[in-house]
Amino acid sequence: MSVEILVLEGDGISDEIMAPTIKVLGAVAGDLDYHYLPFGGKSIDLYDNPLTPHTLGACRRASAVLLAAVGGPKWDSTDPSAPRPEQGLLDLRKELGLFANLRPAKPFPALYDASPIKQERLEGTDLLVVRELTGGIYFGKRGIDPVTGKTIDTCEYSPEEVERIAHVAFKAARTKVTSVDKANVMDTSKLWRRIVTEVQAESYPNMPLEHLLIDNATQRLGFVPSDFDVILADNLFGDILSDEAAMVAGSIGMLPSASLGEAGTPGVFEPVHGSAPDIAGMGVANPLAMFLSGAMMLRHGLGRSDEATAVETAVEQALNDGLRTADLGGSDSTADATKAVLNNIK
Ligand code: NAD
Repeated sequence: MSVEILVLEGDGISDEIMAPTIKVLGAVAGDLDYHYLPFGGKSIDLYDNPLTPHTLGACRRASAVLLAAVGGPKWDSTDPSAPRPEQGLLDLRKELGLFANLRPAKPFPALYDASPIKQERLEGTDLLVVRELTGGIYFGKRGIDPVTGKTIDTCEYSPEEVERIAHVAFKAARTKVTSVDKANVMDTSKLWRRIVTEVQAESYPNMPLEHLLIDNATQRLGFVPSDFDVILADNLFGDILSDEAAMVAGSIGMLPSASLGEAGTPGVFEPVHGSAPDIAGMGVANPLAMFLSGAMMLRHGLGRSDEATAVETAVEQALNDGLRTADLGGSDSTADATKAVLNNIK
């Protein structure tokens, strides 16, 4: 049976990092069928809609969805009624029910010197940010009062939404879950803390749980990243913390992610970074986060761990051999990085 991968064609550096990713995936898994549809800004230009019903339907029917990034200055507008590329991303997550976003951050030893964090504090770091993806302030009621200009975004969570993401975090944890909130101020955070505590007590009594306020968590992540195993956070705090984890990995160009829903739902696999319009078209983007997102697709989306490991090992070996794109302080191009990884695929 063929395995259908839907590739969402995005903006900025998307094409530059997606084409080599298909090559890398082809070297470990030759039986995947790829279909391409425009998304984000590209889709707005064609259809005035970042996520058309046709594209959404194709996503639902696919085995997995692969995406680079969307957005860019061309579609930035202060007109709240103008279509935005990022809205396509939010709608895709909501429509597919992708409530769990997994963002691993494990520094490759070869890149210790690319991180601003001291090596002795990086050693042993292997953390996973589990971010709730379809609730919270990104999806709550919003609006602008046309008379006063007063503007609101609302953070909303139900107990069920917190409970299901808490299970994902505890199942993924090996030594500890650190749940992040702002329970000293926000009611949604008080709910978050109560439900996470109950889930641990009822289902995972042997897995240690700690609660950290977001302000404390951001500074601890910067100073002692090896102190974390699984970080569980809501949509907004998880977004911020996982970008901060770029310090651990040496560059945002190193961080992959997987967005998953209930069993049977196709997952979406994409790097943590955006469309990097400042370097688009220059051939210098780091494709490794995209390669590693492809590996997460093989492991979490298709259940093909051996092939995922082959990609991850090839990335690590290429870095050990000295591969450094500009974001990592080197001068290798996207094409150089692709060649280096392909050469290391056994
Ligand atoms: P960004 O992640 O695109 O870029 C931040 C910085 O990191 C830039 O200097 C960029 O050149 C660099 N960078 C990012 N990826 C890189 C890579 N693979 N290799 C080398 N350098 C890389 O974030 P931004 O500048 O805040 O946003 C640019 C656009 O992307 C905006 O329109 C934003 O809305 C969008 N965005 C999209 C997503 C997504 O599609 N998931 C996520 C974040 C931002």
